[in-house]
Amino acid sequence: MSHLDGRGVTSDLALEADVVVVGSGPAGSAVAREATARGASVVVVEEGPWVRAGEFPLSAFDSMASHYRDLGTSTVLGRAPIPYLQGRMVGGSSPVNGAICWRMPRDVYDEWVAADPALGDALPWADLEAITDEVEQRLGVAPTDPAVAGPKNLLMARGAEALGLEHRPIRRNVRGCEGLGRCVQGCPRGFKQSVDVTLLGDAMDRGATVLSSAEARRVVLQSGRAAGVEAHAQGGGVVRVHARQAVVLAGSAVQTPVLLLRSGLGHGPVGENFQCHPGVSMAGRFREPVRMWEGATQGHEVIGLRHEGLKFEALGFDLTILAARLDGVGSDLSRAIADMAHWLEWGAAVRAEARGRVRVVFGRTVVTYAPTPRDVGLFRRGLRVLGEMMFAAGAEEVSLGVRGFAPRLTSPGALADLEKSGPKSAAAYTAAITHMFGTCRMGSDRATSVVRPDFRHHRVAALYVADSSVFPTNLGVNPQVSIVAMATLCARRALAAAS
Ligand SMILES: Cc1cc2nc3c(=O)[nH]c(=O)nc-3n(C[C@H](O)[C@H](O)[C@H](O)COP(=O)(O)OP(=O)(O)OC[C@H]3O[C@@H](n4cnc5c(N)ncnc54)[C@H](O)[C@@H]3O)c2cc1C
Ligand code: SF4
Repeated sequence: MSHLDGRGVTSDLALEADVVVVGSGPAGSAVAREATARGASVVVVEEGPWVRAGEFPLSAFDSMASHYRDLGTSTVLGRAPIPYLQGRMVGGSSPVNGAICWRMPRDVYDEWVAADPALGDALPWADLEAITDEVEQRLGVAPTDPAVAGPKNLLMARGAEALGLEHRPIRRNVRGCEGLGRCVQGCPRGFKQSVDVTLLGDAMDRGATVLSSAEARRVVLQSGRAAGVEAHAQGGGVVRVHARQAVVLAGSAVQTPVLLLRSGLGHGPVGENFQCHPGVSMAGRFREPVRMWEGATQGHEVIGLRHEGLKFEALGFDLTILAARLDGVGSDLSRAIADMAHWLEWGAAVRAEARGRVRVVFGRTVVTYAPTPRDVGLFRRGLRVLGEMMFAAGAEEVSLGVRGFAPRLTSPGALADLEKSGPKSAAAYTAAITHMFGTCRMGSDRATSVVRPDFRHHRVAALYVADSSVFPTNLGVNPQVSIVAMATLCARRALAAAS
């Protein structure tokens, strides 16, 4: 195994491998694992640093500053600026994500195939299922153990049960989790089975090289074929990585189209069709302390309204972020802080219909996106259901986070008004985005897609896209396992084409 830290690469360097992968998140790590399993040599180029278990900062600000892109302040531009969060380190977002695992939903797959039947042959459902079975084993995916769930997760079960909504403990990629509630800052004890320590670890055991702290700036072409990438190491050296067989882009649904555009590969709808799952959240106060910081970060979900485009999850994050919900100054604020053990927060993720765009403007990445009126209607409905679940679970008061509507409610009555006549503008809602898709979509028509159903770029030989950029639509569920399954298929297609 070999790790090359780009912070120490001060002069120019040349590397070579059968397969060069850009990005080491779930997509890139899956490609590296599968390609090495098939005997290929691999170099993975990763812009972010390598962070080992035990090195994750305990302060939320330090964690955002060091492990999230743009210090966690990336924002989509539109009628309502909404933050979108992405990890930037070896493992991508995986070391700082909520560890929630969902298999690709069959209904979404069927939608894809109905819209483009060629996808049915190129992405056999049985293969995706078999890959997912194996990956889930490797990642230790299992339902959250009630012993580490903690009050915020167990109360969600109670609220959903009272409303008759289907719910379940979240299936997570953890081993030995002690419910320290810090997944989104990076597990301090290394219990999360993120891809850096699992899939990428397997690839490195089989000889893959990881070049960290080095940004791929350009895909290098030779005679119309992808021949490698040019990366700029943080130490100042330029690293040229030659690919004998394939270049696979796995930088995420935002950065992959950016790299294509910066490389002058703007053919087809590159950067268009940006889709996501904007999420809204609500805080609730309970008479007994619920100590939101205790228990599995995200250990329970409500799935009974998935057919409407809504999925609910218990949330867990640093108290400084929960404190942003507090109002008051001076002694009022002190009292509110002293009361924080009584508050918890749950979220609703929306399978939004809106489509945005990723562009490069004056060298900067710009994502434009605006939820549609139907999507904002789902924000309202999601908040209503969250509030009803909270009251049914015993909350005394809820904080809505909706500008232009009652900030707090002490009974569920007004929640129906929120759904019916709450603010129509997305800007009124406190939302965030963590799942992104579609910006290099896959399809058989080169006018409406960027890669072919076998993940290969429509126009450039030996160039592949493996991440959720290729997904024709969003999923409505947490995507990391589907991304790994699709990227594994991508590696198989790339190596089959090269042989
Ligand atoms: C806070 C948070 C919580 C989440 N919770 C969950 C969850 O519980 N379950 C779930 O399924 N999903 C969750 N997600 C989403 C999930 O983590 C992502 O969908 C997934 O990680 C995307 O995988 P990826 O490989 O496509 O991209 P990423 O994970 O974003 O990885 C891409 C990597 O490529 C690197 N890169 C990009 N461009 C370049 C370049 N030009 N050169 C070199 N390197 C580059 C980036 O630095 C990054 O490390 C969450 C995301 C966040 C941010
Ligand atoms: S909940 Fe805590 S202990 Fe469990 S994996 Fe996440 S950070 Fe680690």
